[in-house]
Amino acid sequence: MEKHLQHPVFKVLANIAHTQQTEAYVIGGYVRDIFLSRPSKDIDIVVLGNGIDFAEAAGRQLRTKVAVFKNFGTAMLKTQDLEIEFVGARKESYRADSRKPIVENGTIQDDQLRRDFTINALAISLNADNYAALVDPFDGITDLKNKLIRTPLDPEITFSDDPLRMMRAIRFAAQLGFSIDHQAIEAIKKQKERIGIVSKERITDELNKIILSKLPSVGFKYLFDTGLLHLIFPQMANLYGVEIINGKGHKDNFYHTLQVLDNICEATDDIWLRWAAILHDIAKPATKRFEEGHGWTFHGHEDKGARMVPQIFGQLKLPLNEKMKYVQKLVQLHLRPIVLAQEVVTDSAVRRLLFDAGEDIESLMMLCNADVTTKNEYKVKKYRNNFELVKQKLKDVEERDKIRNWQPPITGNDIMQIFGLTAGKEVGLIKNAIREAILEGEITNSYDEALQFMLEKAKQFGLVPVKQ
Ligand code: ATP
Ligand code: MG
Repeated sequence: MEKHLQHPVFKVLANIAHTQQTEAYVIGGYVRDIFLSRPSKDIDIVVLGNGIDFAEAAGRQLRTKVAVFKNFGTAMLKTQDLEIEFVGARKESYRADSRKPIVENGTIQDDQLRRDFTINALAISLNADNYAALVDPFDGITDLKNKLIRTPLDPEITFSDDPLRMMRAIRFAAQLGFSIDHQAIEAIKKQKERIGIVSKERITDELNKIILSKLPSVGFKYLFDTGLLHLIFPQMANLYGVEIINGKGHKDNFYHTLQVLDNICEATDDIWLRWAAILHDIAKPATKRFEEGHGWTFHGHEDKGARMVPQIFGQLKLPLNEKMKYVQKLVQLHLRPIVLAQEVVTDSAVRRLLFDAGEDIESLMMLCNADVTTKNEYKVKKYRNNFELVKQKLKDVEERDKIRNWQPPITGNDIMQIFGLTAGKEVGLIKNAIREAILEGEITNSYDEALQFMLEKAKQFGLVPVKQ
């Protein structure tokens, strides 16, 4: 076992335990990750006694500052590339209305018992009599081998005591590719309403970790099957299901969305692009119609979806800043390259797409590629090939016309000066007309052509240039 405590810092901590005549253990995620061969830089140390005194001794030996959190009875220090947190062993009991337990001093077993999952309750001794021994009262090692998330206590008690653990169970399942023990699943189904006492920020923190995992669909399926998704993110749960009229069904938008999400995760780690995948069809339930002779339609789901984005971000306490705007834009535009890929691609359609997507054109193309989830191999090939054509065309047009980040060659100020106008409706009309003419390819993207065009156009508005 000693090979697990390679880092020299563990010898220092062991010496302090010896000097202070106390017991200390490495515990939790760091130990779990050793056995999973996941590198980790956060070490949790539990001390039978006063964690703060222990941390201060460690700070002196390691010549580093210690941050003390008196209210929590914890302390933290950084040394080399590690972040080490110290806490006294605890025994906890809970009240019904709060995640905050009543805390007393406890034994190492008491402390392990209050941990969320058996795989997170593993401890390694730093004590002279059994240095580096694994302390594993709940057989977490077997659960690690079987890739199982299981609670040390009756799961109903564990989840009722601290309902955030329901989110953590699902997050670990997604991050580690584990399954959740059957009894624990049933307990989450029973206790799901308790999620109401957890802050939105913490829930979303876990949700984002699920979204950042390799295969987020695993987590979302658990969230859906336990009923948690309906409580924390009902709009997404609403995507589930297939309706059939006159023998015609539409695809299940929940599973489609999960497929798109998993697809995009192969292409990007960007959480906001992943959020765009989650939200791209979010307005399908609200826009769904059955049209006689035609079948199912979702007209305008991209507009309505874009309008839903700020509200969903607000509800989930996601930032209402440029990240939200980015997601909104991708939802708004997600059909555009698909339409292009189905039709003969004209230069002006490509210029318009470049103009509307701007800097985010690559993200948009990634989203559209991920959005191809048909099982029909032939169609997949056809779409992907057409996307390649669209991409090539985007490149050609961009090289030629520089539309991305483009501003029309004549500014509002120019227009006001030339015609002696003050800011107002006419300036906007002329600006629009110039932009449209360039996007449509009627004139090239140059000052001279734009000026000529503008002087012609201005006549229609009865405007004459003032003498300079
Ligand atoms: P990661 O850091 O990768 O998210 P972790 O297991 O280290 O995973 P932390 O949130 O850092 O998770 O918590 C450290 C340890 O504290 C956990 O391994 C677990 O033993 C315990 N723990 C954390 N949160 C809870 C909780 N809500 N209920 C019970 N035990 C918890
Ligand atoms: Mg950790």
